[in-house]
Amino acid sequence: MSVLTGLTKSGSAWKPKFMTNIDQDVCLNCSRFAQICDRDVLNLQPMNKFGEFIDEDDDKIKLQAMTIANPENCADCQACVSIWDKFPTYVPLPA
Ligand code: SF4
Repeated sequence: MSVLTGLTKSGSAWKPKFMTNIDQDVCLNCSRFAQICDRDVLNLQPMNKFGEFIDEDDDKIKLQAMTIANPENCADCQACVSIWDKFPTYVPLPA
């Protein structure tokens, strides 16, 4: 499989990677990811006590879980990686 590649300013190869998954089993839902991403890729979604996503106006909200709302907006800026690179999955974009 070929992947999208580019060049850095110095001319060396650069392979951009884009966020595609958040492991909900290890995510702390601290919301820092949503705060640092200025491209509206990430969003906090309310969940009930059973771990099911529910509407924002539902009165049974137990916690908020980090989700990828707009993956097409990811620009591989790596700002979220600087916070915690343990649970998101970043993959190169196929060419
Ligand atoms: S790499 Fe940048 S644009 Fe993509 S999700 Fe992380 S902070 Fe947002």
